[in-house]
Amino acid sequence: MRNPQNMYCADCTSKTPRWASITFGTFVCLRCSGQHRNFGVHITKIKSVNLDLWPAGKVQTFQALTNDLVNLYWEANLPKGFQKPGPSASNNQVVQFMTDKYINKKWVDPKMKHDPLYLFENKREKFDKWLKKKLGGKTQAASDDEEEVVEAKPAPVKKNVSAPVPQSKPVVQQPPRQPP
Ligand SMILES: [Zn+2]
Repeated sequence: MRNPQNMYCADCTSKTPRWASITFGTFVCLRCSGQHRNFGVHITKIKSVNLDLWPAGKVQTFQALTNDLVNLYWEANLPKGFQKPGPSASNNQVVQFMTDKYINKKWVDPKMKHDPLYLFENKREKFDKWLKKKLGGKTQAASDDEEEVVEAKPAPVKKNVSAPVPQSKPVVQQPPRQPP
């Protein structure tokens, strides 16, 4: 909960979400929690962070997942520059966004058969593998800005035309030339 990656509603980025979807593993704001409830418990179950008793095991799940991490799946293919509905968006915009996100699964990562919460609770090894790949050696504290995935292309090997410079030769820093 206090993880900085959970400071904002997973759906509309409102501050300090106090509700949680124990189906998706995200923290959401009051308004979005209402829409989660409207979808029905067969789609998503909502719990209050402070008031409700949580089912066994869910606390661990939420310790492992963060909104950012879960959204890596649900919003994997969100078009570049797509504006998520913010705190000031209309209810209609929020409903439309959440319907596309969770019901139509418009932006999910097609390479994954299951969402992160399912993986964590049922296929831990796959979850660990996925997590490792997603973090890619980066720390969790990495910025939550959209990441540009730059494929590192191997640079073409240039044939050195000139004779190889002896490695042992120390590089002498030339002082800037003074005009006479
Ligand atoms: Zn929200």
